[in-house]
Amino acid sequence: MPTDTLLTPLSETQREIQRLAREFAANEIAPHADQWDRDAYFEPALVGKLGQLGFLGMLLPEEHDGLALDTVSYLLALEEVAVADASAAVLMSVHNSLPTQMILRWGNDEQKARFLGPMARGELLGAFALSEPESGSDASSLSTQAVKHGNDWVLTGTKAWVTSGTHAGAIVAMARTDQPGARKGAKGISAFIVTPDLPGFSVAKKEDKLGLRASPTVQLRFDEMRVPAANLLGEPGQGFIYAMQSLDHGRLGIAAQAIGIARAAFEAAMAYAKERTQFGQPILDFQAIQFKLSDMAVRIASARALLHATAAAKDRGENVGMFGSMSKLLASETAMWVTTQAVQVFGGYGYVKEYPVERFFRDAKVTEIYEGTSEIQRIVIARALSA
Ligand SMILES: Cc1cc2nc3c(=O)[nH]c(=O)nc-3n(C[C@H](O)[C@H](O)[C@H](O)COP(=O)(O)OP(=O)(O)OC[C@H]3O[C@@H](n4cnc5c(N)ncnc54)[C@H](O)[C@@H]3O)c2cc1C
Repeated sequence: MPTDTLLTPLSETQREIQRLAREFAANEIAPHADQWDRDAYFEPALVGKLGQLGFLGMLLPEEHDGLALDTVSYLLALEEVAVADASAAVLMSVHNSLPTQMILRWGNDEQKARFLGPMARGELLGAFALSEPESGSDASSLSTQAVKHGNDWVLTGTKAWVTSGTHAGAIVAMARTDQPGARKGAKGISAFIVTPDLPGFSVAKKEDKLGLRASPTVQLRFDEMRVPAANLLGEPGQGFIYAMQSLDHGRLGIAAQAIGIARAAFEAAMAYAKERTQFGQPILDFQAIQFKLSDMAVRIASARALLHATAAAKDRGENVGMFGSMSKLLASETAMWVTTQAVQVFGGYGYVKEYPVERFFRDAKVTEIYEGTSEIQRIVIARALSA
């Protein structure tokens, strides 16, 4: 029985989106994923193709050229893309969950009209810039400063770890609008829509990463960058709250990405266990290997069930903050565990680039780190439980 079997029935639309994503990922992404990983190469044409399919506006309303889908459909598509390539999945997850949602939710009519259509169509790639070199889990300690000068905000600072930062055309960046000497903590942070043509914007260091090598992760430098006041997103002082609320949603995307990586590793391990013979029999006939595969499938099914139940509750309008953290925690630790077992099933061949499981193993790790580390998810869950 395949591990993509779902416990909850899918609607016609959900089934169609899953099929579309699976075909696209198998034909347009999977054949290149190993090479892109090896070359740390980002394929710009992928953005246009995802846009044509509607996969960069999955959660946007039709008036902004979006597909107006439910969250489960979106997560099904993300899982399929992540099975082929976790780097392509993170591009989709960040774009759909963070900048587009932030502009939709808190942008004014002019900002929505200017950015959302092009973002949905794949003409503008979105990015999210909260982290800084000295500010990660403690995100409200960020220090990029914004100062009002006439009709502009002047931003100075460095944003770190920006996914898709080399190619992004619309970056939602958080910066302090409180002033030194009158700091307001998290309430002193505002959100800005930054475009790479702004004077003072530059892409600095590109990270040389363990995994997700086909996803460019960069530092962005804002050197007295002049941002028109029209690019302030929502209310001043609310940027941190917007970022946190958006990450609640983003974590569901990362969970789907993690499940996709785990599924790819499981499928590779199952196929290999059938074909590899030792002691005169396929290694699948050894109970030790069967039990590994059983445990992998149990964890994948559990992680997906929690994620989809959370997504369905979110679409019913329920507050799913804690369950979103649980979903991300369970899925990312599942991905790390399953990919480790997959390498073990492959033995020495799991440790070399001839087979893809070493890539899955490297790609899985970051799901325990970004959009809130596993430690931070446990803190969020503990706080919610004890409230
Ligand atoms: C590939 C990649 C892509 C990323 N993409 C983006 C992006 O697009 N936009 C963006 O803004 N950021 C992005 N990030 C940044 C990511 O969100 C941060 O790396 C993450 O939040 C952790 O911050 P940090 O790396 O500074 O680690 P730190 O916060 O320094 O944490 C180091 C360790 O200490 C632990 N720790 C910290 N605080 C506590 C605590 N209170 N209790 C217990 N343990 C604690 C952490 O869990 C971790 O194990 C990305 C990161 C990576 C690696």
